[in-house]
Amino acid sequence: MVDAPTSYHVVEGGSRKGGDLLTDSLGFQCVKKRVTSVSTSWICSVRTKKNRCFASVSQQGNTFTRGPKEHNHGGNPGAQLRAQAISLVKAAAREDIYKSSGKIVTNALLTLATDEVQLPKVSNLQRTANRAQQLRPKHPTDLEFEIAAAHIPSDFLQRDIHHEGHRHLIFASPLQLSFLSKSKIWFIDGTF
Ligand SMILES: [Zn+2]
Repeated sequence: MVDAPTSYHVVEGGSRKGGDLLTDSLGFQCVKKRVTSVSTSWICSVRTKKNRCFASVSQQGNTFTRGPKEHNHGGNPGAQLRAQAISLVKAAAREDIYKSSGKIVTNALLTLATDEVQLPKVSNLQRTANRAQQLRPKHPTDLEFEIAAAHIPSDFLQRDIHHEGHRHLIFASPLQLSFLSKSKIWFIDGTF
């Protein structure tokens, strides 16, 4: 029997620390070790104190070559798809920090639809989505909310005016302000 050639797939942001993860069809995973202008070397992600695996893969463009050392542990079938699922969920969660984690997970699982391997539990993926969305500020309950400056481009919030129980937030980019300062006529729209 001839083994099918091993296929490799790089999952962006797939590692636990958010780095790229190289997964292969045998169920092994590698993290980046060294990147040069011509090649990337990957080392097995099994690197605990108890068991340090020195299997490696060298990548040149889309060509992956296994290093001389064998893995000293078994592969984890389905790890490739699981890593992809987690990475998809993380990316979607960061893209829309207000989207419900249920929707994010459902969409991610639909794009990976497979019944060959067991994907991560939906509840675990939802937790992954929520964790990636932790930057999400709380919805304001009254006018005295604190502005989460990290979510506003710098130089965009010009004034935060509290006046007689009202609040006015004035947004404008420096470019818009410079246009405004050069304009002879201003047209103003308002609700009075
Ligand atoms: Zn290994």
